[in-house]
Amino acid sequence: VPAGVRDLLLGRIRDVADYPVPGVMFKDITPLLADPEAFKVLTETLADICVQRGATKVVGLEARGFILAAPVAVSAGLGFVPVRKAGKLPGATLAQSYELEYGTAEMEVHAEDLASEDRVLIIDDVLATGGTAEASLQLVRRAGAHVTGIAVLMELGFLGGRDRLKPALRDAPLDAL
Ligand code: AMP
Repeated sequence: VPAGVRDLLLGRIRDVADYPVPGVMFKDITPLLADPEAFKVLTETLADICVQRGATKVVGLEARGFILAAPVAVSAGLGFVPVRKAGKLPGATLAQSYELEYGTAEMEVHAEDLASEDRVLIIDDVLATGGTAEASLQLVRRAGAHVTGIAVLMELGFLGGRDRLKPALRDAPLDAL
């Protein structure tokens, strides 16, 4: 992204130390969401990526990924599909569990929301260890669709998410704005 866009977005992200637990620097995007210019620029930048990739669907990851991905889907004229934490979707789901530092977590998608001809851009706010993104990638593929890329606002490089994702990404690009 152009330096001006990058600075605008970065300037609207608040670092909150020791949240939700000691030792974590939480990247709070609510100042960005509350700024109509920054939110619009972010939406348009992500919508451009959808067009470049020939995406047919936008997948957002619960919960902040929903906030970013839904306006992108509308702007790009595409459908939106939520990937949710286990137990929240009422229909027939596919489920994918993944390793956390302590224990495991599980994400789900409605299988019928994705078709084999779909090309999916996966969107979230922050890539940390990459576990959430990796599980989502697997869900989209298990639903039969093609992953055309993953796009996040921020990547916490020191946590190694990009390396963890590399084998699962195959030829799909990972964009961190
Ligand atoms: P991970 O699966 O470790 O890549 O974690 C990514 C998910 O957790 C994303 O959905 C983020 O919203 C959230 N997350 C992880 N670390 C942070 C952080 N430092 N600040 C804000 N959100 C985070």
